[in-house]
Amino acid sequence: MSKSVTIIGSGFSSLAASCYLAKQGYEVSVYEKNSTVGGRARQLKRDGFTFDIGPTWYWMPDVFERFFSDFGKVPSDYYKLDKLSPAYSVYFGKDDYITIDDTIEKICDAFEQEEAGSSVKLMKFINSAKSNYDIAIKDLVYNPGESPLELVTTKTIKKLNQFVSNIKRDVRKDFKNNRLAQILEFPVLFLGAKPSRTPSFYNFMNYADFGIGTFHPKKGMYQVILAMESLANELGVTIHTNSSVDKIIIENKTVKGIISNGKTHLSDIVLSGADYHHTETLIEKPYRQYSEKYWAKKTFAPSSLLFYVGFDKKLKNVNHHTLFFDVDFDTHAEAIYDDPKWPEEPLFYASFPSITDNSSAPKGKEAGIFLIPLAPGIEDTKELREKYFKKIISRFELLTSQNVKNNILFKESFCLNDFIKDYNSYKGNAYGMANTLLQTAFLRPKLRSKKVKNLYFTGQLTVPGPGVPPALISGKLVAELITKYQKN
Ligand SMILES: Cc1cc2nc3c(=O)[nH]c(=O)nc-3n(C[C@H](O)[C@H](O)[C@H](O)COP(=O)(O)OP(=O)(O)OC[C@H]3O[C@@H](n4cnc5c(N)ncnc54)[C@H](O)[C@@H]3O)c2cc1C
Repeated sequence: MSKSVTIIGSGFSSLAASCYLAKQGYEVSVYEKNSTVGGRARQLKRDGFTFDIGPTWYWMPDVFERFFSDFGKVPSDYYKLDKLSPAYSVYFGKDDYITIDDTIEKICDAFEQEEAGSSVKLMKFINSAKSNYDIAIKDLVYNPGESPLELVTTKTIKKLNQFVSNIKRDVRKDFKNNRLAQILEFPVLFLGAKPSRTPSFYNFMNYADFGIGTFHPKKGMYQVILAMESLANELGVTIHTNSSVDKIIIENKTVKGIISNGKTHLSDIVLSGADYHHTETLIEKPYRQYSEKYWAKKTFAPSSLLFYVGFDKKLKNVNHHTLFFDVDFDTHAEAIYDDPKWPEEPLFYASFPSITDNSSAPKGKEAGIFLIPLAPGIEDTKELREKYFKKIISRFELLTSQNVKNNILFKESFCLNDFIKDYNSYKGNAYGMANTLLQTAFLRPKLRSKKVKNLYFTGQLTVPGPGVPPALISGKLVAELITKYQKN
């Protein structure tokens, strides 16, 4: 008889794991607390507008291809992918921005315009980033983080110095122009820590950015979730929504199942893709692997204040992805990592998917998503949200030379309290646990419980880390680990 697996949550990592496990012959049931699947990547629909609630940047298309190819599929079986041209633009002041286009040649031209001679340094940097991408994303991240030896290969030994230096130091050594340096430091923000705390080796994110490019699934990132849900269904996975898991049942140090909505569901294996810290609260204290002290000491990726805005007109002077780096990065980063508080003047990011995808807003209108990164664990009130919306929308008007305040049809916000309420997120984090040197690979919370037999974890707080591509990889890794230990 096939063994049964209960999966908690239906984010990218859980859905990925469900597909791999079903393919391997397990009987898989997913229990999701919310009314729809997708976790942090859910979708908001209102008055003809469609917004991705969470991820909006589709990077590393090769990781998605690899996922679908494991099932004899290609992404285009489920969704249409467009390469964005330009990829994004970055504002530094009023009418003052740099546009990052869709090829390295065009990006070199933009760098040259900013600083003569910088394209030569850029190519050297991107070549090093490509070499790291080939090592990390094609190979290294597909290790389960069980042992430090996984990181020791002939290729990584040659790069040891890149684990002790950091992105900021490397970038600033070669690029004295602050604007270019900031653009090169931006991609590692996806990993959740300051560039000064992110090992140089992680410059593979720069290759993902400049070398491969930024893509957009037609109708939004949620199409990827729908694709995975559809694949899971094809493979025989049963998905239960509106099914919060309240307890993981353990007997004699072995997992026996879960309790959801007051009902017991027995299974041979339990895998949780909910936030790791929350999952441990579902088991009795002696079985927890990590203390509250452990979590409190960890560097968490930021939380965010998000706004989903329907505009009654098309906006100008912005791209699908637009970053606003017109204020001091270090001061904002301090308010996230060193002295957690609301930043005085925040950097922010805005996305207008309706610029390239007319399915996201009614004709002649614009869908806008605004995001301010914030420290996890700080206060979140209606008044603070409103105060910060006013701050950024005024700056937005000034920087992009247009009036938009009177063109807002509606706006909805999402912040720390929603991350906690909707996802049981630790301190309201948005992107999980950061990838710093001491929070990499085998140093992250483990995929397999050391205390409870047949209990496993996946997702952005474990291996390999935050982001959609890592979540897909995390699901694959944990499925492989389950199969490995079932055989033993
Ligand atoms: C605002 C935002 C923007 C982002 N932008 C990008 C981006 O542009 N590109 C990118 O690659 N990544 C981005 N990310 C990161 C990426 O979205 C995440 O890393 C990824 O989606 C995490 O997937 P996951 O499976 O680990 O967790 P989640 O998506 O959080 O899934 C966990 C699931 O568990 C469920 N759950 C929790 N507790 C229980 C319970 N007790 N019972 C049942 N179910 C439970 C939750 O409801 C949730 O569905 C962004 C994230 C956010 C929040």
